[in-house]
Amino acid sequence: MEPVRETYGLMPEGTDVLMYLVLIPFALVFVYGVFYRLRTIGVRSFRELVSNIVSGLPEMARYGLLQRKVVGEKLAGAMHLLIYSGMIALFIGTTLVFIDYDILRLLGLRMLRGDFYLLYEFVLDVMGLALLGGLSLLFYRRFIKHEERLRNRTEYAMVLAGLLFIGVSGYVLEGVRLALEPRPWGDWSFVGQSLSKAVFSSFPAPFLTTFYQGMWWSHAVVAFAMVALLPYSSLGHLFSTLLNIAVNAPKQLPLGKMNTPFRIDELDPTAEIKLGFRTIAELSWMQKLGLDACTDCGRCEAACPAYAAGTPLSPRDIVQKLKKAIWSENGGDRDVFASGLIDEEEVWACTTCSACIEACPVLIRPMDYIVEMRRALTLEGKLDKRKTAMLTNLSRYGNPYGFDPSEKQKFFQELAAMGAKTLDENPDAEYVYWVGCASIYDSRGREIAKNLVKILVKANLSFAVLGDGETCTGDPARRIGEEGRFQELALQNVETFKTRGIRKIIVNCPHCFNTFKKEYRDFGLQLEVLHHSQIIGELLRTGRIKPVRPLAEKITLHDSCYVGRINDEFDAPRLAVKSAARPGGFVEMRRVGRNSFCCGAGGSTYWYEVKRRDRESVIRLREALDTGADVLALECPFCMQMFADAARITGAEQKLKLKDIAEIVAESLEPS
Ligand code: SF4
Ligand code: SF4
Repeated sequence: MEPVRETYGLMPEGTDVLMYLVLIPFALVFVYGVFYRLRTIGVRSFRELVSNIVSGLPEMARYGLLQRKVVGEKLAGAMHLLIYSGMIALFIGTTLVFIDYDILRLLGLRMLRGDFYLLYEFVLDVMGLALLGGLSLLFYRRFIKHEERLRNRTEYAMVLAGLLFIGVSGYVLEGVRLALEPRPWGDWSFVGQSLSKAVFSSFPAPFLTTFYQGMWWSHAVVAFAMVALLPYSSLGHLFSTLLNIAVNAPKQLPLGKMNTPFRIDELDPTAEIKLGFRTIAELSWMQKLGLDACTDCGRCEAACPAYAAGTPLSPRDIVQKLKKAIWSENGGDRDVFASGLIDEEEVWACTTCSACIEACPVLIRPMDYIVEMRRALTLEGKLDKRKTAMLTNLSRYGNPYGFDPSEKQKFFQELAAMGAKTLDENPDAEYVYWVGCASIYDSRGREIAKNLVKILVKANLSFAVLGDGETCTGDPARRIGEEGRFQELALQNVETFKTRGIRKIIVNCPHCFNTFKKEYRDFGLQLEVLHHSQIIGELLRTGRIKPVRPLAEKITLHDSCYVGRINDEFDAPRLAVKSAARPGGFVEMRRVGRNSFCCGAGGSTYWYEVKRRDRESVIRLREALDTGADVLALECPFCMQMFADAARITGAEQKLKLKDIAEIVAESLEPS
């Protein structure tokens, strides 16, 4: 007797036809739901949708089908992978049954027979266990462990119950079938066979037959219902996340680059400027698709420094609230601030660290919605005194501190005495060292600049400083949402760079680094921009500087957001610090590299007060102290100021010294 799939074997005659009749209303509910969901999001053209999906197929494969970011977390990743692979396998298995029974059988052919059928039974049993294992993990995380970031809603419990029922009832049906009609190849369906022997073999056949038929219909109806409810329930993320990845991923800007909504030098002075959004209706369908894809997993929230510091901001809440507004009656037309949906304080608490973007497994960018809402608020002048003062300082003095530019002169004279000529004095210099406001006007920042100059002079590098020509890059204005002020400064700097023929610059501020590297391109400037960790790394690699006096202390390193996560530079700062450390004198923190934790100064939040329970810098400082290090190495003058405050507040000044990587390397060099 050849093994063959016996579809409807124990069901009454005509069950196949009846099943398709029962399926019709469920299928209609599903199809209506898909169209309703796409229409509510604002998809008007099917052709546009398809062309967007096609262009994003590689990203969809990488991040959607292969789950590249989902598996990043051990327990959550394993759980998701088990459920996902189990469901895919069961879907493929059901499709094969349909092809085998409803198409091939009518042509006198069979596919699910012989060895292929035995393999089919075995694989489906294995994958069914994967599904149940994943669902058990899900149950454990949500209802036993009560993981903090997971929210429980009745709907989530119902979806879990439905999936569990489908998984368990599938095995029960298999077990009953094998008890009623034992087959020599039954062991290939090893779960069903075990159930058959252990549970069902002792029951009378008439009872088992009735039980089987009842269970068969329950299994089918619950499965149909789950499919029908896909577009209306959280299970819809199966499709919405894939769609979001395909449609939005290819168009996403690199981390750290904000879009340029207009060019002030090309603006029609009579045209009305529109910036950011205040209502959902102002969002494109692609932006709404991003919101709709949110699975409420909370990974962004868990990574968010503003949330950890107890500010009113949670990136998950921002996305979830905007998502709900899409679906609420007239929600799309409501002003998100006036209606109380979003509190302005939430929007101002963001440090633009991009950790939420990095964390989101389905490529949603909560920060992008936040900065767009900021832009709308700023356009209306909804700025408090400190934000307004910073912007006024930028206009009046060319620096956010409000220092008179004569201060700049004095400091450049100090640098000149150390060997840093101006570009006027050294017009053939290969590099221009752009010192940046934080290292020109802040006394602690000045120490960083001086130590860097010491290193560059020691290496005999051909460099110069701009002196009078330096003015703020405009980063604080752009991050606060004042696009016009940013562009005025950017255009002024671009003009300076072009007229002076500057091609290569060195910066020690990660914010200058990012702005020059990524944002000035929109204004026609392509520069080779090196963060000071990179030029120091290069000088070390080429032997132009040689550390000879390793530091006695143990050192740990804080990756700044705008050099690390946002600009992918993790090695150069480590090379610099390790070269100056004694053997075994370098230790990593718990959260490093891409997972580093913001000091709380980014996104212009350095310039104004944010309501908070704790400080991001204090949280991070504790992590540095946990390593047992004596020195916290930094690569950003703003991080330096934030951690200096944190050390003062916590009384850790004696336990942990704060040193920039330039100071560490300079200290390790032979004195000149
Ligand atoms: S960018 Fe950083 S601070 Fe802003 S919401 Fe995302 S994780 Fe939070
Ligand atoms: S935005 Fe992304 S990371 Fe945040 S809750 Fe939604 S799916 Fe999860």
